[in-house]
Amino acid sequence: MHPTLADDLSRLPALLQSARDVAARELGGLAERPVVGPGTAPGPAALPEEGAGAEAALARFVEDWAPGFSGSAGPRYLGFVTGGATPASVTGDWLTAAYDQNVSGAAGSWAAALERETVAWLREVFGLGVEHSGALVTGATASNTVGLAVAREWLGERLGVDVSRSGAAGLGPVEVLSGSPHSSVAKALSVLGIGRDRLRPVPLLPGNREAVDVAALETALAALDGRPAIVVANAGTVNTVDFDDLRAIAALKERHGFWLHVDAAFGGFAALSPRYAHLVDGLDAADSVCVDLHKWLNVPYDAAVQFTRRRDLQVRVFHNASPYLGLPTGEPDFLHLTPENSRRLRALPAWFSLVAYGRAGHREIVERNAALAARLGEGVAALDGLRLLAPVRLNVVCFTLADDPTPGRVAALADAVADSGEAFLTPTVYGGVPALRAAFSNWRTSEADTARVLAALTSALSG
Ligand SMILES: *Cc1c(COP(=O)(O)O)cnc(C)c1O
Repeated sequence: MHPTLADDLSRLPALLQSARDVAARELGGLAERPVVGPGTAPGPAALPEEGAGAEAALARFVEDWAPGFSGSAGPRYLGFVTGGATPASVTGDWLTAAYDQNVSGAAGSWAAALERETVAWLREVFGLGVEHSGALVTGATASNTVGLAVAREWLGERLGVDVSRSGAAGLGPVEVLSGSPHSSVAKALSVLGIGRDRLRPVPLLPGNREAVDVAALETALAALDGRPAIVVANAGTVNTVDFDDLRAIAALKERHGFWLHVDAAFGGFAALSPRYAHLVDGLDAADSVCVDLHKWLNVPYDAAVQFTRRRDLQVRVFHNASPYLGLPTGEPDFLHLTPENSRRLRALPAWFSLVAYGRAGHREIVERNAALAARLGEGVAALDGLRLLAPVRLNVVCFTLADDPTPGRVAALADAVADSGEAFLTPTVYGGVPALRAAFSNWRTSEADTARVLAALTSALSG
């Protein structure tokens, strides 16, 4: 063994203690850390020939790189939809690395069984029945891609094309209908060889809504003359957190043949709260479902879950077995279900958080975030220089300048807020109007944080 490596091995407990100390210090200061990193990153250094050892690597990281990291795990980073990491999930994540299990299959370790237990719990969290099987993937983009890959295989089943063997070309042009799809859906369609241009926008409900007009969806389906299609329903749009009427969409299946994929990346967590669960009523009727875990479950990146009712088709797409051995049967190993072959035990942080806080703890996060979003919404509406662009439906406040909201002026407002170090918001365009979003999905965020965000906006407006 290389002497430096041997030395690290002999001092492993002390090294882990040092890493713990750094993490404890960073997390202790997280709430006051500037929300975005300063200036430009150091230029690329030369590859070390002789290693310095892990303690020296830690010191160099802390010195050279850590100061430029963002406070995205903290309470006032409201850009995109950004979760933090609960204490239990960080613990689980550390141990994922320490145990370093390969959850491609079940052989020789209980790790795959732990992932199955986690998936079963998540199924309950989101109100899905046992017909839905699932697996953990890296994020909602990957989850949407897996769901749409199974949809593609289903189209093949309907049209008599074995897509897994002969390719997607045999399907001809595929119709993918959706009201307000997330950009990752177009990306998935590109990856899957269906094509971004096959995503057909369906009209939305009138009255400042991002939810699909189900009657218009039915008209679009009827126009397909019986040709099977894919419908992507959206449960939680990123601008205004609107929800398609999932039950009404699922009911269209009685008259039209389509695969129903639901992107519930963060909106799925509405199921945790009796107050908001109606928003995802009908989710169980979906053929495939995407939910992110590194957003509103507040586990570290990279974690999402995908569910489907057609695991047989999923195995046809993703199996990694010799055709001579036939397709896996029974409870297929995870390597036959997801894009990866070797896989980290990314279920462990979620398992830890669910064991530590339970349904009630995670419900409290969702309800508190929603209440804080409503509070910021009231504050924004009351400010002279700003106006809300949509009602605060769940956890996102979408607003703009009251006067002359040009892209430049709106971006300048976002920059001024970020430069204050107090809060981070991301620009968007809603209904053709340049706007800002404040998305609440961090377990740490409090009323005091929300007051600080409002104060930062107020001073940015006057400054
Ligand atoms: C965030 C998001 C995605 C993409 O998630 P990643 O984890 O970043 O891949 C997809 N759909 C919706 C609705 C989202 O909010």
